[in-house]
Amino acid sequence: MASVALRLPENVPGDFFVDSTCIDCDACRQIAPATFADDGDASIVHHQPENDHETRRALMALVACPTGSIGTVEHHDAHIGIDAFPEVIADNVYYCGFNAESSFGAWSYLIVRPIDKGGNVLIDSPRYATQLVKKIEAMGGAGTMLLTHKDDVADHVRFAAKFYCRRIMHADDGAERRGLETVIRGEDAFEIDQDLIAIPVPGHTRGHLVFLYQNKFLFTGDHLAWSPKRNSLIAFRSACWYSWTEQTRSMEKLLDYDFEWVLPGHGRIHHDSPANLRAALRDCIDWMKTV
Ligand code: SF4
Repeated sequence: MASVALRLPENVPGDFFVDSTCIDCDACRQIAPATFADDGDASIVHHQPENDHETRRALMALVACPTGSIGTVEHHDAHIGIDAFPEVIADNVYYCGFNAESSFGAWSYLIVRPIDKGGNVLIDSPRYATQLVKKIEAMGGAGTMLLTHKDDVADHVRFAAKFYCRRIMHADDGAERRGLETVIRGEDAFEIDQDLIAIPVPGHTRGHLVFLYQNKFLFTGDHLAWSPKRNSLIAFRSACWYSWTEQTRSMEKLLDYDFEWVLPGHGRIHHDSPANLRAALRDCIDWMKTV
């Protein structure tokens, strides 16, 4: 719970506020940009919600905030924010909300499919919050959990125990040590089912994977994201823990695939045509070679 006593002085006066426990994960700014803004190394409220839509988005940000750093002075029905998750992005792909602090607020996703199409899939782990778990259960549970890399595993053990899901991760990020059910090795793409491919992309970590669903949705973990500031696809040079050279080489592998959505753990979601995303990916690779 956010504390009024820790309210950042940079917030505009009024109901919603961010306190000093903010870790600057960007989730609130992406969910409710009308209310939250970047203030250097933290988010602040730059504009108080003025209508039901803005209030709902601000309450969703409050629920998603991994550190409970968003508070309100007035009472609100918490279910307005809670019940909004999982939130559909497109088709049968959802953003889970309830970001986990242990993965620095990384975003996680849910694919909802009938059992005969492979069943539901969690991509990276949200916070194990009872309200979210019940919603996922009501949507059919999760038979598979895809883990892009070791930083974003969060509460995977609890989700696996709840839903008996098969977890998939790369050996080079410690999948065996964690006792995961399916361990991917080497650098070849791995077909999980007819609609899902795991693509090893070493760089951010040695065993980083991205997952491509229906040649449309690319779940990119910390490998690739959209930057509104650069108006381009980017990789995170200052958060590359293994090898930037390898990450640049891995990025070139993605030119072989079509996708319309980039769905990262950190950084911004982006949607465009496959041709435009391929062009943006080429620009990103060229830029990576210069830094
Ligand atoms: S979601 Fe929470 S931790 Fe993340 S930037 Fe906003 S206030 Fe800070």
